[in-house]
Amino acid sequence: MLYRAMYIWVDGTPPTPMLRSKTQMLEEGQEPGIWGFDGSSTMQAPGDDSDVVLNPVKVVPDPIRGGNDILVLSECMTTDMEPHHTNHRAACVAAEEKYADFESWFGMEQEYTFLHDGYPHGFPKTGYPRPQGPYYCGVGTDRAFGRDVVDAHSQACIDAGLAISGTNAEVMCGQWEYQIGPRGAVETADQLIIARWLLERIAEDYGLTVSLDAKPMKGDWNGAGCHTNFSTRQMRDPNGGYDAIIAGCEALGANKDIHVANYGHGIEDRLTGHHETQSYKTFSYGISDRGASVRIPWQVERDGMGYLEDRRPNANCDPYVVNRLIVETICGAASSAS
Ligand code: ADP
Ligand code: MN
Ligand code: MN
Ligand code: MN
Repeated sequence: MLYRAMYIWVDGTPPTPMLRSKTQMLEEGQEPGIWGFDGSSTMQAPGDDSDVVLNPVKVVPDPIRGGNDILVLSECMTTDMEPHHTNHRAACVAAEEKYADFESWFGMEQEYTFLHDGYPHGFPKTGYPRPQGPYYCGVGTDRAFGRDVVDAHSQACIDAGLAISGTNAEVMCGQWEYQIGPRGAVETADQLIIARWLLERIAEDYGLTVSLDAKPMKGDWNGAGCHTNFSTRQMRDPNGGYDAIIAGCEALGANKDIHVANYGHGIEDRLTGHHETQSYKTFSYGISDRGASVRIPWQVERDGMGYLEDRRPNANCDPYVVNRLIVETICGAASSAS
């Protein structure tokens, strides 16, 4: 019996790459192998040199098709089998390997907005819905828009074996969140890409689209982020963990511009200093402070160990880039300090 392998990859659409996917039928017992596609149709290659190679990096059960069908997350390679210029995973793998002793963990909070006919789900055809306030973790027909999709998605993530840790309705009408992790830098990013693909795919069945736009509605509406929670083995150790967390915050501050510049398109529109953000021009960290660039959760201060939350990455960030930068900055600083 043939079975179906859905190959998934990140394309080259500027300014924010999108996901692409296509299916290959495999014979029973056959493993998914190297494949390829027309890069001239995905903003990844010129027409006269269009072949881009797909290299499978992670295989999970396909929770939508079911049976023996699988999802095959792939990285893009040149025909010489070098990382393609749109492949930001390879550098993340290298950074994680370089600092493997740190045993870095990541937990990423993916916020997103359902759109219906181009407007956030729940917005009326003309005018605006009730102002922000009742939507965050809201329940009820006039507050929660799209829950069926959220629940179908979280079940699909579980069925695919992903480390989804929770979901919640967000502050803006039609906006939601799910969290992936904690896992390693590359594993969390890989799982987040698969989770993003599953959400877009499932939302097709409901006639909704998923926007990762960092600021879908101007005005008094929250933007959408991808808060990135991070720890090293040292940070998780009750003996000196808190000091390592503070050192991590200081390292992020010393490198603030390179992080902000690589945390997703349109970050200046989202990190305004309002709507639970710090301005992109300023760096700060604080305990329980949702107006800081980096927050230390209150339990972490109490326990003297745990993790920090970098609140700056946009919903539309590339998780491989974000996680690589955090590892390089924090582990790099800790290495040169010791
Ligand atoms: P928030 O209070 O900011 O909304 P969430 O509960 O949405 O927080 O997300 C917290 C994330 O942090 C989860 O994905 C969780 O798995 C992750 N996390 C928990 N402990 C750690 C840790 N030690 N290192 C990294 N990530 C962690
Ligand atoms: Mn959260
Ligand atoms: Mn959130
Ligand atoms: Mn958060």
